Amino acid sequence: MVRKVQQVEQLFERLEKEVAQFQDKTHLHCLAGCGNCCTTPSIEASPLEFFPWAHHLFLNDLAEQTLVDLQNKTSALCHIFQPLALLDKTKGRCSDYPYRGLICRLFGYGAAKDTLGKLRLITCKIIKENQAADYAKTVRAISAGEYVPIFSDYYMQLSQIDFALGRTMLPINEALKRALEEVLHYYAYRPIPKVLKNSA
Ligand code: SF4
Repeated sequence: MVRKVQQVEQLFERLEKEVAQFQDKTHLHCLAGCGNCCTTPSIEASPLEFFPWAHHLFLNDLAEQTLVDLQNKTSALCHIFQPLALLDKTKGRCSDYPYRGLICRLFGYGAAKDTLGKLRLITCKIIKENQAADYAKTVRAISAGEYVPIFSDYYMQLSQIDFALGRTMLPINEALKRALEEVLHYYAYRPIPKVLKNSA
């Protein structure tokens, strides 16, 4: 379990560096305070990309309660998303940003291959419209071979850590639930290593 969590975190660190370089080159960036992409109810993720999140909750004695909350949840909106106002759920932020999943890290700064193998930047309408010149320049640069993190490459690396849990795509709250269940199940009959208790 600990090894898998660390491997996922190492993958995230690599991606974080690549995204930072990509942002430096392209000047594309999320608008401050914008959480619009998190309000999409159809976000899918794998359980494994939320292992660091689930493990962190477990070490802080929050895993069981969060699992109950998720089991009682009726909204498809990501459980981690924190709306700014109760009545307007379209604005808000990720309440556990350092522990967000792979999909959250790739969206906006990653590309998917189309049926012809051509790379297409996956980003939001807000970036496309508000940063139109930089977006157009970036699309041209990617066509000309500029490096961009690729969704399928990163998901392949994730599935190399655990094939089933890295490859299975579920609605995001199901992925969160499954990650918590896996962590709780793992520690049900095992002691928590002392070093982890102290680092929680
Ligand atoms: S984990 Fe955070 S960044 Fe990812 S969809 Fe949920 S709220 Fe958004």
